Amino acid sequence: MTGRSPSGESTPPTVLKFGGTSVEDAAAFERVTEIVRAERRARPVVVVSAMSGVTDALLASVDAASAADLEPHLERHRVVARCLLDAAAAARFEAELEAAREEIGRLLERASQGGGTLPRVRDEVVSFGERLSSSLLAGVLAARDLPASWVDARRCIVTNDVAGRADPDFPETCARARAQLSPLLAAGRIPVLGGFIGASAGGVTTTLGRGGSDYSAALLGAALDAEEIQIWTDVSGVLTADPRVVRNAHTIPTLSYAEASELAYFGAKVLHPKSIQPALVRGIPVRIVNSRAPQDSGTVVAAEAELWPGTVKSIAHKTGITVLQITSARMLGAYGFLRALFEVFDRHRMPVDVVTTSEVSLSLTVEDGAALPAVVAELETLGEVRVEPRRAIICVVGEGLRTTPGIAARVFETIRDINVSLISQGASRVNLTFVVEEGQAREAVTRLHAALLEGPAGRPDRRTAGRGRGRGGRSRSARPPVRPSAGPTALELTRRLIDIPSVSGDEEAVARFLGGQLEQLGYGVEYLESAPGRPGLFATTDAAPRIVFCTHLDTVPPFFASSEDDEFVYGRGACDAKGIIAAQIAAAHRLRAEGIRELALLFVVDEEKGSIGARAANGHPAARQCRWLVVGEPTENKLATGSKGSLRVLLRTDGTGGHSAYPERGRSAIHTLLDVLADVRAIAWPAAPEFGETTCNVGIIGGGAGANVIAPDARAELHIRLVTDAAPVRALLEGAVRGRARIEYLSATPPVRLTAVPGFDTCVVGFTTDVPHLSNWGAPLLVGPGSIHDAHTAGERIAKADLERGVELYVQLARSLHADALATEVRA
Ligand code: ADP
Ligand code: ASP
Ligand code: MG
Repeated sequence: MTGRSPSGESTPPTVLKFGGTSVEDAAAFERVTEIVRAERRARPVVVVSAMSGVTDALLASVDAASAADLEPHLERHRVVARCLLDAAAAARFEAELEAAREEIGRLLERASQGGGTLPRVRDEVVSFGERLSSSLLAGVLAARDLPASWVDARRCIVTNDVAGRADPDFPETCARARAQLSPLLAAGRIPVLGGFIGASAGGVTTTLGRGGSDYSAALLGAALDAEEIQIWTDVSGVLTADPRVVRNAHTIPTLSYAEASELAYFGAKVLHPKSIQPALVRGIPVRIVNSRAPQDSGTVVAAEAELWPGTVKSIAHKTGITVLQITSARMLGAYGFLRALFEVFDRHRMPVDVVTTSEVSLSLTVEDGAALPAVVAELETLGEVRVEPRRAIICVVGEGLRTTPGIAARVFETIRDINVSLISQGASRVNLTFVVEEGQAREAVTRLHAALLEGPAGRPDRRTAGRGRGRGGRSRSARPPVRPSAGPTALELTRRLIDIPSVSGDEEAVARFLGGQLEQLGYGVEYLESAPGRPGLFATTDAAPRIVFCTHLDTVPPFFASSEDDEFVYGRGACDAKGIIAAQIAAAHRLRAEGIRELALLFVVDEEKGSIGARAANGHPAARQCRWLVVGEPTENKLATGSKGSLRVLLRTDGTGGHSAYPERGRSAIHTLLDVLADVRAIAWPAAPEFGETTCNVGIIGGGAGANVIAPDARAELHIRLVTDAAPVRALLEGAVRGRARIEYLSATPPVRLTAVPGFDTCVVGFTTDVPHLSNWGAPLLVGPGSIHDAHTAGERIAKADLERGVELYVQLARSLHADALATEVRA
């Protein structure tokens, strides 16, 4: 859950960034127009690169101190304007183009006469690429009835004054971007900005480095707390390798932020390396999509990437690398040596990528560049320096790579005849990086791709689900079934199930796998389509279902694969609820062997989010036949007699922005929110004998514009566990808030009394389950192996003994319910 309101004015915007090839000509501008139109309800903010080739041409004009070769590029702008704008608008744009031509001419002339420093002139000249493309795009959108407003990016992106690769001042950028863009968005306008460019605090034009428009988009997305940042380019997402090297590279449906950063950093040009950080900080998904094939699902980068245990996802490479080896006896046990060494790189602002050390030498990689000879000269004062030019870095990326034995061996076996140096694994958990000679890079990447990403083993399925906002594509399992005919052991099945990722939204693979298993065990299997691509499962025998075992297929993020020791099985879903699925299936198998056939199994999606699976299943015709619904959640094998309800609440406060040095002139939304929360925390909530205490968790707080700004807005999200109806709790909350905050009730579920059966240990649970949404399925019981205190944790686990006890308990419970059913039938 995030603290976002589902609709209305406060809906967060979506940033759409279009790269150079997405605006290369008039046809491309038209495609962009249709994409923006399709996203209109997502409140788009459009960021655009220079038309393809224009940045290169502008840079070349500075180097040549001549604008002669620019003319064809300026003409391309004119052609688009004439094709897509009406005569008056085209004339206005042509005047702008003319003014740009004159200004560029003046700048080049001044530079050739030694006026102004060259790097600054370069930034000023190159900025025209994005200034013109964005102005043109705003005009084209407006001509097609989209309410576009051009915004000078230099008023939003504030940077230091390092020419050519300025660093943004993030808090200042947030404040300015919000001030510039929020009023436009509130008025229903579509802001259009050039990427790549910004300005220093003193107003000097700066640029963010080549490919920097992605970074602009990410900065603006973070500043506006966007719903999503979409990078529209000329490929359908991040691919398993550079498509210019590996022709059959294919799209990776989802990547974690860490994986995407490593890929971008080590050469996957499709994303600027710095563009992940701002998205990560705010938890905003980044979607990479193809403006020429907008129907393709592309890649989603998010915290909750669906993972493929132990599998390599992509191979990046970067050429133009030089390896420096510095050898010095002074290194041995000496303090300060490494600092002196790295200060050299610092002074020259030269980034170092890979570093390895031995006792007396240190090897590292840098990108080739003009500063290299000066750096080498300085390093020579510290030790003997060996320079190995024309090298390439190869980076194999995938979450779980470090913890999966055998991957490194496989990588190096595949390229055993290629000379490899500087192997680095472990600095990041997601990559294995090494250096080869530049001439062998293509061969190495091609072979690694064939070995690791083209075979059936270890390769994510390429089919992806349809594109949906804010949700990832899916990867599916192709594992062989567990023991075709015999009943699987609960332990074995638990591990298999854990290893198929099924974070809410991505349940299909696990559902299909289980469906196959249950068919082999002789059940009739029905897939319940609760939402597109998210099937639940209903498995029946040939008898009417009287006792239904039920739990959920989805887990919380992030996925992590299974492992075990003597006592426990670990992995996402171990206790919540894959161990339980396995225990229920094993129990049902035994019960059927005993001749109890009036059994069924119901496994639903989305329990961890909005219970859409349970809600859909509640309408199933078989529900009315069912007398007892045995719902599995980790209750430590105790039969729950009650479960608390839940009330989710969003509180929002408003303030008036202003300079923090004069707090008396404004009103801080954050200060108000803190006062409100203090009063909320002091509420004496109701208690109920059968359920215990009401509890209130302040789970998320957020807001503000910068440490030196009086906060204009703030919000908090509460999760209250109910032991009564919601009404008295709402009254208490509203009494404490006293109108100082807006209250939005996000969801409410009442507490539930559950069925007790004599002879079983009992408990009351504080968490909410699918039970309230399955009201048609007879009397609910709630019990399962595992502890709720292990659920949702980074070390989720289930004790093996607990799992076996769980199977036994389900068997006993069903026997006793079955006996009871027989007794009632005899009485009737
Ligand atoms: P834009 O102009 O849209 O910003 P870029 O040229 O910067 O586009 O980036 C897209 C290009 O990145 C692709 O056309 C492709 O050639 C290259 N590329 C390199 N590695 C990868 C990869 N792993 N996945 C996708 N594209 C890649
Ligand atoms: N136009 C700039 C470049 O070519 C920035 C970008 O396209 O991202 O590097
Ligand atoms: Mg790019």
